[in-house]
Amino acid sequence: MSDHVLVINAGSSSLKYSLVDGRSGEAAASGLVERIGESQSRHVHHGPDGDAESERAIADHEAALQAALDAFAEHGPALDGIDLTAVGHRVVHGGARFGAPTLIDDDVIAAVTDLVPLAPLHNPANLEGIEVARRLFPNLPQVAVFDTAFHQTLPEAAYTYAVPLAWRDDHGVRRYGFHGTSHAFVSQEAARLLDRAVADVNVIVLHLGNGCSAAAVRGGRSVETSMGLTPLEGLVMGTRSGDLDPAVPAYLARELGRTVDEVDRQLNKASGLKGLAGANDFREVLRLRADGDPGATLAFDVYCHRLRKYIGAYYAVLGTVDAVVFTAGVGEHSPDLRAAALTGLDRLGITLDETRNRAGATRISPDDSPVAVLVVPTNEEWQIAREALAVVGQGT
Ligand code: ADP
Repeated sequence: MSDHVLVINAGSSSLKYSLVDGRSGEAAASGLVERIGESQSRHVHHGPDGDAESERAIADHEAALQAALDAFAEHGPALDGIDLTAVGHRVVHGGARFGAPTLIDDDVIAAVTDLVPLAPLHNPANLEGIEVARRLFPNLPQVAVFDTAFHQTLPEAAYTYAVPLAWRDDHGVRRYGFHGTSHAFVSQEAARLLDRAVADVNVIVLHLGNGCSAAAVRGGRSVETSMGLTPLEGLVMGTRSGDLDPAVPAYLARELGRTVDEVDRQLNKASGLKGLAGANDFREVLRLRADGDPGATLAFDVYCHRLRKYIGAYYAVLGTVDAVVFTAGVGEHSPDLRAAALTGLDRLGITLDETRNRAGATRISPDDSPVAVLVVPTNEEWQIAREALAVVGQGT
């Protein structure tokens, strides 16, 4: 039996795919179809012979997945020689129902559909990917791997918002948390790097990509995380504000004569680094800051301040911390950010070795520091593949 899983991440106008060996993590091929539904969709396929790129109209997700299958046939590896075990789908919101990856059937689809109000941008696209894959691979098990599932272990005191009972009971208002696949992968990797059992280590994971979130992981179980009902809460992100006084949307709606939906859109799309520096790409923020741009300087400072505050808070939640782990685009690639975020934390046992930090080492703290500071590349595709294998009974 093969260990290969086709991992699918369907967005509203994009479809990412990856053919992953769930045991070794090796990706035999991957690809991205962007601008689905537009006249010039773009498709890049990374196969064994390099990259194949094309631009043409790809009408919908079904055509996008078909284009991916055509690319496998044309540029390799040939799927019929691979004996796929499952299709693994990234699903953003699993609500309180899904605390683990799940074999998809009509019931699961109905439940994910019920959760659309909690993730109106993401879940419909994820469902589209599932429907299409079920049609094109009718004989393969399809597994949903939820971004929220890893955080279903949060204690009640951590996931409960202090709001009226009816909101909590009737409308599911609580912290769910996201990026769970990444937090799970990275915290397991951290234990492996420390040569300790997952159950024995406490880790603070900082996932800093376009979206950013922190998680406190005790013995492999998430006990606190910064994103909430939606991915808007918590750290400063590319275009999302993260934490703010919950009265701000109502205040602005009144002041500007806007609807709450319009304000919500601005908090999701025009805030964060973009709101502060005019650029949502962290590399651009670093460039502007190096040129002395005051907005970019402030953006960097706010971003780091928020991060440091969360590290302190999660230290208190965990009591003892074995590792602080940076991951995703910013976390993996910006030594400036890592150094600035950890400044002044020596009394907590968190110290950087600047040479290691600049050199791109995995362990960037001194060997004898009480808390290891690690840089661990996330690999959500591998995590999805191995969780899918586990669901179909092929896992380790
Ligand atoms: P996504 O959340 O879309 O998966 P990524 O994990 O790829 O995002 O992270 C994207 C972010 O990482 C962007 O803000 C980008 O500027 C930043 N980034 C990528 N490379 C670097 C780098 N060398 N230095 C600083 N930031 C970087």
